[in-house]
Amino acid sequence: MSDSNLEEIFIKRSQQKKKTSPLNYKERLFVLSEHKICYFDYDPEKKKKKALKGSVDLEKIKCVETVIPDENAPAERQFPFQIIYDEGPLYVFAKSDDIRKKWIHRIRQVVRFNKDLMQKYHPCFWEDGVWKCCQQVVKQAMGCRVMETRNGGFKQTLRKSRKPLPPTPEEEKPCRPLPPQPPPQQGPCPGSTVIAEYPYTPVQPQDLELRKDEEYTILEMSDPNWWRARDKYGTEGYIPSNYVTEAMNGLERFDWYCKNMNRSQAEHLLKTENKDGGFLVRDSSKAGKYTVSVFSKVGGETVGICKHYNICTTPQGQFYLAQSHNFNSIPDLINYHQHNSAGLVSRLKHIMSNRADSAPSPFGLGYGVWEIDPTHLTFIKELGCGQFGVVKYGKWQGQHDVAIKMIKEGSMSEDDFIEEAKVMMKLRHQKLVQLYGVCTKQKPIYIVTEFLSNGCLLTYLRESLKNPTPIHLLEMCKDVSEGMAYLESEQFIHRDLAARNCLVAANGTIKVTDFGLSRYVLDDEYTSSAGTKFPVRWSPPEVLLYSKFSSKSDIWAYGVLMWEIYTMGKMPYDRLNNSEIVDKVSTGLRLYRPQLANERVYSIMSICWRDKAEDRPTFLELVSNVQDLLYEMQ
Ligand code: ADP
Ligand code: MG
Repeated sequence: MSDSNLEEIFIKRSQQKKKTSPLNYKERLFVLSEHKICYFDYDPEKKKKKALKGSVDLEKIKCVETVIPDENAPAERQFPFQIIYDEGPLYVFAKSDDIRKKWIHRIRQVVRFNKDLMQKYHPCFWEDGVWKCCQQVVKQAMGCRVMETRNGGFKQTLRKSRKPLPPTPEEEKPCRPLPPQPPPQQGPCPGSTVIAEYPYTPVQPQDLELRKDEEYTILEMSDPNWWRARDKYGTEGYIPSNYVTEAMNGLERFDWYCKNMNRSQAEHLLKTENKDGGFLVRDSSKAGKYTVSVFSKVGGETVGICKHYNICTTPQGQFYLAQSHNFNSIPDLINYHQHNSAGLVSRLKHIMSNRADSAPSPFGLGYGVWEIDPTHLTFIKELGCGQFGVVKYGKWQGQHDVAIKMIKEGSMSEDDFIEEAKVMMKLRHQKLVQLYGVCTKQKPIYIVTEFLSNGCLLTYLRESLKNPTPIHLLEMCKDVSEGMAYLESEQFIHRDLAARNCLVAANGTIKVTDFGLSRYVLDDEYTSSAGTKFPVRWSPPEVLLYSKFSSKSDIWAYGVLMWEIYTMGKMPYDRLNNSEIVDKVSTGLRLYRPQLANERVYSIMSICWRDKAEDRPTFLELVSNVQDLLYEMQ
């Protein structure tokens, strides 16, 4: 994390802990590190930091926001921002809006799962015992403006009155975040309690049986796919980690809770089921919050509408959708609205669930086993043909869907791949196509992976996707950025990220596939950057010129993949041939803004195509940019 330290000279306003203490402004060197923001006395001549003057623990931060500058503020105090923590606001003035944005963005990223994040804030200064925005005289008084965006935008008008804001249950209104949820990469840790979502019958002697809905304690997780666990009788053994879910918010037990479902997927499910009062609860696009999605056929019409309501919390920690109907828990709230519409477009009549009826495939045959017995595979149909040969859809053990790549002889350096497959088996993320195992004791060898029924993203964009909403397009980008952020965190370089190497699940989720595989291709046309099959159109200058691959070259390819999504599968630089692309891209040519992409979306693509690799964002930053934009759009 040390490489993510930020340092900057800011002007800091004195904190005016007493009403009478005078205001002063001093230059301080601010350092954002893993756990703290520290500020130091600074010697401008020697450009050295001197004594530590103070610090703020990141975990205590409740809000980071811009502040509206005072009317007659001098030039050096035009870009203030506030860091609110338990001792009140810390006011800091940046030299430029860009620097301010960068700091706000970075701090928000690290504090986004903090407890007690604020729902409202004061857009003006606290000065001489009064909030200049709302004239309240208590320093702890609740903010007078709802945090509308996490980008520091000021879209709402200032409230003059001191009356508290009514708890309006309107669609996707921002409200106080619920207790934070860890980011998707995190999850249970040894000692956590998990609940079995599916039953599992042991295959290997060291496996543990899973009984649906029972609780298990995790003991050891060194293999991400097979965890050692203990059941309530004290029996221990290995379980497939994708059969259990962490007992985190307690909602996992309810069929109406559709974890990992986004807004478009919820709408798709509700519209497909087409039931008046069909509903589900999903994670909101804002981390740690939940949204109720309801389908209604107002007035008995045949085409219905979907409404999305954020579950809000009162300062006392109660939950509500509608004014004056507060509940101690989300299940209580849902239960109430199953019987009363109370302001919603419809009573919550029918539970819509995305729970699969059949269990997912466990990863491979059992703990520590990556070799799959080919007699356990049944071939059902051919899916397509790729660089390594034919890909087929089939079943493993007669019940689990799998895709099987049958590796054409001479197309892959097999021994190297088999070695690497052991590492790749351990890569595991919702937005990556899971490698289940390999069959290497025969020719051709097989690579067995998760099967995604909507096939390749490029074909999906070109042929299946009709009139997508802006939210849907961005959600696709978000899926890919999440899968890639995981690869980045594992220091794994994809090397061939493009729409053709993403697949689409039955519910529309996009997953990244074929990561790292290009290293094992035996075909000079594909591996040499001068070859006809080399992904020149997805490559940054440093790859084209010096074959320098990194997570930053993946970032470039991600920008091009976003462009593919927003052009519904056009060929990048379609008028240029490969050698023209090498010339032009290394001298500054970039892809144009697709019609479906607005300036904000295009700016995300554009930062991926910065000349210098180090100036490009990380995937973690991209996830956060895309998430912020999505949140603003809903
Ligand atoms: P290769 O990587 O060997 O070039 P691909 O991965 O492109 O081969 O696979 C060829 C085609 O097979 C894809 O375009 C896609 O339609 C289909 N396919 C590959 N893997 C899967 C999968 N896991 N689920 C569903 N379809 C798949
Ligand atoms: Mg491929």
